[in-house]
Amino acid sequence: MTDMTPIPPARGCGDAPVLKQRGQREVFCGLTGIIWLHRKMQDAFFLVVGSRTCAHLLQSAAGVMIFAEPRFGTAIMEETDLAGMADAQEEIDREVGRLLARRPDIRQLFLVGSCPSEVIKIDLSRAAERLSQIHAPHVRVLNYSGSGIETTFTEGEDACLASMVPVLAHTDARQLMLVGALPDVVEDQALSLLAAMGIENVQVLPARRRSDTLAAGPNTVFAVMQPFLGDTTAALERRGARHIAAPFPFGDEGTTAWLAAIATEFGVDAETFARVTDAPRARARKAIAAAAETLDGKSVFFFPDSQLEIPLARFLTRECGMQALEVGTPFLHRQLVGPDLALLAEGPVISEGQDVDLQLDRARAARPDISVCGLGLANPLEGEGLTTKWAIELVFTPVHFYEQAGDLAALFARPLRRRALLAKGAA
Ligand code: SF4
Repeated sequence: MTDMTPIPPARGCGDAPVLKQRGQREVFCGLTGIIWLHRKMQDAFFLVVGSRTCAHLLQSAAGVMIFAEPRFGTAIMEETDLAGMADAQEEIDREVGRLLARRPDIRQLFLVGSCPSEVIKIDLSRAAERLSQIHAPHVRVLNYSGSGIETTFTEGEDACLASMVPVLAHTDARQLMLVGALPDVVEDQALSLLAAMGIENVQVLPARRRSDTLAAGPNTVFAVMQPFLGDTTAALERRGARHIAAPFPFGDEGTTAWLAAIATEFGVDAETFARVTDAPRARARKAIAAAAETLDGKSVFFFPDSQLEIPLARFLTRECGMQALEVGTPFLHRQLVGPDLALLAEGPVISEGQDVDLQLDRARAARPDISVCGLGLANPLEGEGLTTKWAIELVFTPVHFYEQAGDLAALFARPLRRRALLAKGAA
């Protein structure tokens, strides 16, 4: 097929120096991922072994009602547990036994570690192994950590998916695996574009149900849909699968480049590629242009939060006419975001990690038109007259692929329009 690779800037950020800082950080812990993962995996249950704080985080950050039969819960650790006076392993067995007796619909159970379970060193991998043996074959029990000591925000999904990779079946079949939990409707769009190109044998990790058997092996190639899946990528490579490097599918350009990398891998010809992508590309471009009227010429400052920052900066600068001042990310997985970094024109500070006070000073000095940050920083910054966008919305809102490209741009345009209206009203 013809080369659909985007034209890089004269000097990209691929070799740009990275400002690395370690200090106080303002990011949710990895338990947050349960909020979208429980919706995606319809027969899974997430049992957090944690404190009342963890339970409150899930309920308030999720903003969900407590349904009659929810698919996540917290095994609350009491003071006797923390003092080591109770046998935690026995209690986990008892709680899991009760839960599974009540809920035969559960086919996969994740024991999720938290700060308290880590501090007192409850061995959840031993618990998962033992419980798997007790409850197999009906239920598979896995474990991962969502603790704030070990993980930030989106790393919870990475840890969860990485925990599933070693138990995937083995296959020698030539196949494509898409990796990342996206809303079903968005995932279906990607699958239908690939099917229209004639790419068959496509799997998605995580599968919607455990019965959708997934397998990996030396003839598996995989494309990642979220930039925070570094551990999952490494785990798949250990299974012999090969990563298809590409920019992330945000906007017209990112989506086209991501699809083109897969199409090239599977030998799709240029005519077929154009036939499948021309119409949705045109729709995406039109939708982006509507929001870009507000974004063009405006500056953006990313605080590190979701790890989506580098691909989003690439989208906003190249497709919406914005100028990036600083692009902060909690972790910089070069293998995953390298293609996006190379497309981002040099200029912004690229920072990894956070010392929040120093970064706030940089934002105040730069006075960006919009700051992308976590909930904890948004209110103080708004109070100082800076316009903000909650980074968490970028994870909860469908923003991938062509049909969502306009919505993605609009997420950034909306706060700017609101600020302009308020300024007009005050004048
Ligand atoms: Fe807080 Fe840690 Fe529980 Fe997350 S895992 S809610 S950071 S105590």
